[in-house]
Amino acid sequence: MAVTLDPPEKMMFQLTLRRRGISDQAVLRAMEEVPREVFVEARDRDDAYRDSALAIACGQTISQPFVVAYMTEQLQLQKTHRVLEIGTGSGYQAAILSRLCKQVLTIERYRTLADGARQRLEKLGYYNVEVLLGDGFDVPAGAGDFDRIIVTAAMEQVPDKLAERLEVGGILIAPVGPHQGTQTLVRMVRTATGFDRKELVDVRFVPALPGIAREL
Ligand code: SAH
Repeated sequence: MAVTLDPPEKMMFQLTLRRRGISDQAVLRAMEEVPREVFVEARDRDDAYRDSALAIACGQTISQPFVVAYMTEQLQLQKTHRVLEIGTGSGYQAAILSRLCKQVLTIERYRTLADGARQRLEKLGYYNVEVLLGDGFDVPAGAGDFDRIIVTAAMEQVPDKLAERLEVGGILIAPVGPHQGTQTLVRMVRTATGFDRKELVDVRFVPALPGIAREL
């Protein structure tokens, strides 16, 4: 009988996520399915399944896998959900989200990153992701409201205008705090009358900056 074995680094990857407390089976499956090596720079392919953030183009980073899995788990995604991501970067987080919901709109302020992510996602056949070159502080009104919002760049605070794009019952998760140093992951749930806000864990993200980047 032929037995197919996962390469050891992929098995370690799953073990690390479980050991660090990720227990949602659907999230673990998505983390297993999406090839992270496609989203890192060629020089980093060998390190794609290490639990660390890596540098990508335009001075940005692809987040640490544990943080991707943790934020995804906290979103409690359902197959019917429309999700907004601010900060496409490599497209990896968007790819994970796309396996767990109906549709993802992801916004990136660097053209180089937006184009690269769009190409990768298309090549992998993840057709329910739309990559938009734009400013996450100014989400086009025509994009509608969302069941879930995930911000993957540090915001000094969550703008009301952004939180208001959540449907009632919707969840937003964002790293909030100073651009330099440590931020706190904040989870907001939109209620009929306002927002329930909870602080989760400390994290480090690159800053969310206003406007489309003038450099490529
Ligand atoms: N989620 C990404 C990693 C994000 S790094 C991944 O999985 O690879 C943060 C990204 O947010 C960077 O690419 C940065 O350019 C982008 N960004 C920062 N401010 C932004 C803004 N106002 N609108 C859209 N993207 C923004």
